[in-house]
Amino acid sequence: MNFLLELWRAAIYFLFPPRCPNCREMVDERYQLCAACGEKIFCVDFYPRPPAPIDKVLRVTRYRNGSRELLTKLKFDNNLNVVPALKKILDSVADRDEISQLLNGVKLVVPVPLHAERLNERGFNQTEKIFADWLAAKNLPLENILIRRMPTPKLFDMNKTQREKVLTDAFAAAQPVDLRGKSVLIVDDIFTTGTTCKECAKVLKSLGAEKVSVLAFAADFGDNLPN
Ligand SMILES: [Zn+2]
Repeated sequence: MNFLLELWRAAIYFLFPPRCPNCREMVDERYQLCAACGEKIFCVDFYPRPPAPIDKVLRVTRYRNGSRELLTKLKFDNNLNVVPALKKILDSVADRDEISQLLNGVKLVVPVPLHAERLNERGFNQTEKIFADWLAAKNLPLENILIRRMPTPKLFDMNKTQREKVLTDAFAAAQPVDLRGKSVLIVDDIFTTGTTCKECAKVLKSLGAEKVSVLAFAADFGDNLPN
């Protein structure tokens, strides 16, 4: 039986070899970006102008062709097969100075929450899928202390003002919690206008958090050059 399964896998691999989701170049593992596409998105840097009340924003990749394909497959096609490729990208930056700088003093890590309806529909919070294991290995387990009170419409075709309007008061604490003096990290899959994280940061600061930083898997810091 195992032999047949192996044979089947080998046939699939031969007939449909794994290709880079961005440029279709052949790669070793399915959904992995090729070296050239990885190089184009890979970017561990701090946002020079973090939007208040957020203190720092660090991204791992640029939000553009490459990261966009992987995250779209995860969020809109519910395709969990892309998770190993995303984790591999995170692993490759685990030892960077910028990461140590960001995590230094952090006492609590919070994922941007999904509304219960969206969570039900998708079956998972994509941000948790990307970051949970990586953070657990750093002894920083994710804690769902925020909830999304209102089901927010999909934001991708809204401008900043529209986003701010639908997201105002969208988040709240899941239960009373005292964050006085604590440094809290928000993790998010995509950071573009920053509105979502800003709203989460407001709630965390209202609970007493001294510092709120953001780690985004992909972000647009205004440098999203076309491919
Ligand atoms: Zn490629």
